Amino acid sequence: GPSIVWFRDDLRLADNPALRAAIDRGEPIIALYVLDEESPGVRALGGAARWWLHHSLASLDTRLRERGAPLVLRRGPAERVVRDLVTDAAAGAVFWNRRYGGPERDLDAALKAGLRDEGVEVASFAGSLLFEPWTVKTGAGTHFSVFTPFWRACLALPSPRAPLPEPRVLDGVRRGAASDSLDDWGLLPREPDWAGGLRERWEPGEPAARRRLREFLEQDLAAYDRARDEPAAGATSLLSPRLRWGEVSPHTVWHETVEAGHGGRFLSELGWREFAWHTLFHFPELATKNLRPEFDAFPWPRLRPSHLEAWQRGRTGVPLVDAGMRELWTTGYMHNRVRMVAASFLIKNLLIDWRRGEEWFWDTLVDADGASNPFNWQWVAGSGADAAPYFRIFNPELQAKKFDADGHYVREWAPDALGDDAPEPLVDLAASRTAALDAYEHVKRAA
Ligand code: FAD
Repeated sequence: GPSIVWFRDDLRLADNPALRAAIDRGEPIIALYVLDEESPGVRALGGAARWWLHHSLASLDTRLRERGAPLVLRRGPAERVVRDLVTDAAAGAVFWNRRYGGPERDLDAALKAGLRDEGVEVASFAGSLLFEPWTVKTGAGTHFSVFTPFWRACLALPSPRAPLPEPRVLDGVRRGAASDSLDDWGLLPREPDWAGGLRERWEPGEPAARRRLREFLEQDLAAYDRARDEPAAGATSLLSPRLRWGEVSPHTVWHETVEAGHGGRFLSELGWREFAWHTLFHFPELATKNLRPEFDAFPWPRLRPSHLEAWQRGRTGVPLVDAGMRELWTTGYMHNRVRMVAASFLIKNLLIDWRRGEEWFWDTLVDADGASNPFNWQWVAGSGADAAPYFRIFNPELQAKKFDADGHYVREWAPDALGDDAPEPLVDLAASRTAALDAYEHVKRAA
């Protein structure tokens, strides 16, 4: 019977090992995507992510259709949906590329066991990470909690495999399986339509992802080390949503970067992505629990909703923070340096629990992913792996002087934050810093 290729966080044709396995098997192919908002523990997508997913699926469907195997869309708890499709289509095999979150792994393992019991061939592949989490270990056989030795250990392993070529034709099933209509999934915002800024900034889909990679390597990589921290410089790759949705594989990015040369610093950023996913693999509760348990003793004061809302809307009166939060709201993206400053301000100046910030980013980032987002929030909070020490509290004014010296970035996103009638900061930076350090004493005592 036909082979089902179950697409998940790998919305691409090139370098897709699951798709390659289906082609090699020789039977007709059913390409499947499941919108799963029901399986226990699987985190519902945020609004910006849903927007990206809609467009990326539309692009993938077009490309699959041109090659002979249109995308089948189904909605529901994934285990049931896949099993139903196997039965309806009398499929003989199911292939997918692995996921690394806890609930997703449980679901995939149960499905794999169930289908195999019924005599269906099932195989999973490494497509989304350069190094499988169980292959990177310390000398003592445990996982790494510090980045530098982690990445050194990765680089000592055999190099990531070369990317697989993109298939030109696919043998789809003759009478296609029934599919939902993408528009009926309601992934796009209606009223209000807040996606104008996203449409202006981004073009989801595999062809645009590959174009952006080439453009970055040709035009920006040379200046990356020098200018990557300056939000107005446009010196970074903007690949994060493309990697999040797997429109381009990390293997492709890796090999094309190595060919382009001078990519050590940039490749180590891909290393942070790996480190975040490996950390989630070993600690599935990364989005809700402090990785370092002594942080459970942190005395978060009672939440002041007006402060949280001012932060969300970019109305804190701190120019760099406000610029960043408005870039995020408008475009679904924020530069890494500004993410760090905005997160630090929420946690350490407003004394708001990092989980509230993580949730907001989850809802508003087009690159929001189950590992990098909580990993980086915990990194800023001090509770995470290889985290910034708690007492290193970013001073947003100094950060702006250093990385946005001529004010280009703040002028673009928060011009009202500059000049004579600029609003006062919501909290006094020095006093709130002292309060944060006092609160941290509880953590020190609990350690
Ligand atoms: P580049 O500098 O060009 O880096 C290349 C790639 O490396 C990125 O596309 C990304 O895949 C990876 N990368 C770079 N830095 C990191 C990092 N610190 N952690 C993990 N991967 C990294 N990144 C996400 O992809 N998803 C998130 O949900 C996310 N949430 C974040 C939350 C906070 C509070 C902070 C401080 C950072 C977060 N990041 C997240 C990391 C980082 O800000 C983005 O990956 C980066 O800004 C994306 O821009 P770029 O693709 O131009 O990066």
